[in-house]
Amino acid sequence: MLRLQPFDFVKPQSVDEALGLLAKHGRNAKLIAGGTDVMPNLKHGLYQPEIVIGLADLAELRGVAIERDNQEDGTLAIGAMTTLEEIESHPLVIAHAPGLAQAAHAVAGPTQRTMGTLGGNVCLDTRCVWINQTHFWRKSLGFCLKKDGTACHVVEGGKSCVAAASNDTATMLCALDATLVIRSARGARTVAIRDFYKPDGIFNQRLEPDELLAQVRVPAPRFTGGATWSGYAKLRARASIDFPKLSVAAAFTTDAAGAIDDATLVVSAIAATPRLISGIAELARGGRADDLALLARLGERAQKVTVPLTNIDGDAAWRRQMVPVFVKRAFLAAKAAGAATAV
Ligand SMILES: Cc1cc2nc3c(=O)[nH]c(=O)nc-3n(C[C@H](O)[C@H](O)[C@H](O)COP(=O)(O)OP(=O)(O)OC[C@H]3O[C@@H](n4cnc5c(N)ncnc54)[C@H](O)[C@@H]3O)c2cc1C
Ligand code: SF4
Repeated sequence: MLRLQPFDFVKPQSVDEALGLLAKHGRNAKLIAGGTDVMPNLKHGLYQPEIVIGLADLAELRGVAIERDNQEDGTLAIGAMTTLEEIESHPLVIAHAPGLAQAAHAVAGPTQRTMGTLGGNVCLDTRCVWINQTHFWRKSLGFCLKKDGTACHVVEGGKSCVAAASNDTATMLCALDATLVIRSARGARTVAIRDFYKPDGIFNQRLEPDELLAQVRVPAPRFTGGATWSGYAKLRARASIDFPKLSVAAAFTTDAAGAIDDATLVVSAIAATPRLISGIAELARGGRADDLALLARLGERAQKVTVPLTNIDGDAAWRRQMVPVFVKRAFLAAKAAGAATAV
């Protein structure tokens, strides 16, 4: 049986109290939201905090709302402690950002989604077949760069860690151009999720030790003169539980005649950051999202720049071959879900 190492545990009763604790303990503290990833990682000895700060009682970090800047548009504001179960079935999420509901539904299995939160998913640690193992297993190989060792088992002679971003909702939130509200005792800041991740598998987030993620904001869809669509597709070993071997999110707008006028495609589970595929809007413009020939061209484009590594379970060459298949599925999932509707 795997045992937890000793640590102090505190459950702050307000966000300010949590921020005070983070300011005091910094890198010696570990935040825990639903705990579905923190707990196994603690047991594997990947984290050795002096203090664990539980966010479960912070009701002010929960909930889904539309915040209106004017009569027409509304930003979807989701508290970081909102569970994935709530998100996948919430009428405002389904209406405003159907692809996000799909991505939340694709995370793990029902039990993890009951506990797991959007904040925990956005801030999920990167994964690698050589690191998500017991201490005993890792020790037998001399550990690795990410924790306790000096070599990488994925890239021979590699000087940096290439563990992969494996969080389903991050791919979709990048496609939707979401922003994150980050708080510390020093104040609050807003960052585009596309700028939040950095190419460092050891810690892939631009988050200071005294900061926490408070809210995720998805911009208003287009309701006049056209429509906004979003869809998610995931390659995994089984239809439930498993992390992505490939994660693909598509978001696009159409004009009044139903032709695509803007499109974004993001591929993840290949490197430490989700990857925005360039040139997709230009290729897609004027086309139809259910035109299989167009989707094949978009898939080919994504495949050209997608080079999976052996850091994730599953043959890397096969995962690359699957890129066009899952690009097509993401666009078709968006069409099947229907356009975002005003709420
Ligand atoms: C069997 C199994 C299968 C899984 N499959 C998937 C999968 O398919 N896809 C997937 O994406 N995930 C998967 N997961 C991982 C996990 O369940 C989800 O990613 C979940 O969303 C994590 O949320 P949480 O609230 O439990 O996070 P926690 O485990 O509590 O935290 C995760 C990380 O985020 C940090 N954190 C949490 N909240 C905040 C915050 N507000 N501000 C700053 N940092 C914060 C924590 O410090 C920690 O580093 C799986 C887990 C298990 C056990
Ligand atoms: S990519 Fe290399 S350094 Fe990073 S976790 Fe895997 S084996 Fe370790």
